[in-house]
Amino acid sequence: MDNQTTARSVLVTGGSRGIGLATARTLAAHGHRVAITYRSSPPEGLFAVRCDVTSTEQIEQAFLEVEAAQGPVEVLVSNAGITDDGLLMRMSESSFTTVVDTNLTAAYRVAKRASRAMLKARWGRLVFISSVVGLSGAAGQINYAASKSGLIGLSRSIARELGGRGITSNVVAPGYVDTDMTATLAEARREELVRSIPLGRTATAEEIAAVVAFLTSETASYVTGAVLPVDGGLGMGH
Ligand code: NDP
Repeated sequence: MDNQTTARSVLVTGGSRGIGLATARTLAAHGHRVAITYRSSPPEGLFAVRCDVTSTEQIEQAFLEVEAAQGPVEVLVSNAGITDDGLLMRMSESSFTTVVDTNLTAAYRVAKRASRAMLKARWGRLVFISSVVGLSGAAGQINYAASKSGLIGLSRSIARELGGRGITSNVVAPGYVDTDMTATLAEARREELVRSIPLGRTATAEEIAAVVAFLTSETASYVTGAVLPVDGGLGMGH
């Protein structure tokens, strides 16, 4: 840990794989005390608590476990998310509400729970993982895009409400990242997508994690209400 870094108590939701896992590993490597939530199986080498973010009770239980193990959460990375794509005319109401519940309402649940201790400490970092799609929209992703743009309004409102108490709230908007979430995309679609990315390639989860780490650091003390694209230029202009 360098002398600019204070060891913090960190919680990353959806840290069992992908961007959440890379973020947890990066923050742990920076010397923080890091906990992750998982549903299916915990990753190796990290403090993990089981929690489905669609359940307020499970979130409460997870926070109690994390607080007992490493102290009140000072840095929250709200990352857990799902897709359930389909065109508007064929999208069921349950597909819409499930995606919004997991990606947006859950962010409200964890931010609300975390803010209690942050307010007391007069210090906190909230980071919400949105998506380039939250700004540009995407055919077949009405539910997902709605949830991801919702995170921007949520984060910016928190930035206004809690800024006076030393709490920052920011959004990271990744582009196309190689994780399980994108692994199902057909090769032809993938190639087409890559052609539209100025940097000409997809991102690694570690490249997203590095930006999250910056936003949670002491160095980012004057950054709040921001939406930071990490998308190789894909979303420029939105
Ligand atoms: P993955 O599918 O690899 O991982 C998703 C994570 O979310 C898993 O840890 C999963 O837990 C967790 N999760 C899903 N639903 C729930 C739930 N109800 N309760 C608790 N945990 C849950 O996805 P990525 O790493 O790719 O995505 C992480 C975030 O980044 C998401 O919010 C996604 O929308 C966003 N994003 C991803 C992009 C990409 O290209 N991959 C691009 C832009 C944004 P478990 O494994 O235990 O089920």
